[in-house]
Amino acid sequence: MSDRDGFIWSDGKLIPWREANVHVLTHSLHYGMGVFEGIRAYKTAQGTAIFRLPEHVKRLFNGTKIFQMSMPYSPEEISKGIIDVINSNKLEACYIRPIIFIGSQKLGISPKGNSIHTAIAAWEWGAYLGEDGINKGIRVKTSSFTRHFVNSSLVRAKASGYYINSILANQEVTANGYDEALLLDTEGYVSEGSGENLFMVRNGIVYTPDLASCLDGITRDSVIQIAKDLGYEVREKRLTRDEVYSADEAFFTGTAAEVTPIRELDDRTIGDGKRGPITEKIQKAYFDAVYGRNDKYKSWLTFVK
Ligand code: PMP
Repeated sequence: MSDRDGFIWSDGKLIPWREANVHVLTHSLHYGMGVFEGIRAYKTAQGTAIFRLPEHVKRLFNGTKIFQMSMPYSPEEISKGIIDVINSNKLEACYIRPIIFIGSQKLGISPKGNSIHTAIAAWEWGAYLGEDGINKGIRVKTSSFTRHFVNSSLVRAKASGYYINSILANQEVTANGYDEALLLDTEGYVSEGSGENLFMVRNGIVYTPDLASCLDGITRDSVIQIAKDLGYEVREKRLTRDEVYSADEAFFTGTAAEVTPIRELDDRTIGDGKRGPITEKIQKAYFDAVYGRNDKYKSWLTFVK
């Protein structure tokens, strides 16, 4: 992705895409301490709009606080940087990736003495789990790799290094022909996908795992609100994998994955093996929200011009 035209926001300045490089002795490259975001902007009838920008910037800054990385920029400066990146690259709809990482002055576990850097890139990115996945659902397999434990990883931060666990799980199951992995927590309860939160529906009630070991997903939060507004009861609780096997419907949520139905888990068909009716209603309402088609959710949109 490095060899292309365009601009990247790097430590306060828009620079040519190909020049946005780091040194091989960058601390974050060696030890994985960095925080990032995944944000989407959609082309709405009223222009390009970023979905839930303040919430994403807040989570990014929460990460820097958790990891004691002193940020030289304010949330307002980062928000403006994101808008500048979209406009300078003339993007109408895109995925936006801000990252904050530790510099290359000094190696060794302690990051002390290193500068903190920020970069923001944006590019066009379609359906993460495929258009077919969005419409027909995907095949998911429980990974043999366990999700983060609360006292070894602080999962309120969306941290670069944590994604080794996601990659291991995703690699394992996609090598065997599945579309995405489900990870369980250290006690064997359902946690989340490699890059998505999980929901299931049983007897008209919408369930999702509580936040102990999974990311506090912004799509998860949006879907909880949308489901409640549609009149569904939403319960956040521990879920077992056999509760998902016997659910009427299941789906993943995420900025990249949006609302993707799960048609199969561990070779068991979920419900009728296709996008369920409540999933479809929630998915439609989610797309209406991100595309600015429902005034109720207009406050979730930040227009870029
Ligand atoms: N869990 C993980 C591990 C993720 O990487 C993501 C994607 N950011 C999510 C859940 C979904 O979070 P969000 O809805 O904020 O994109």
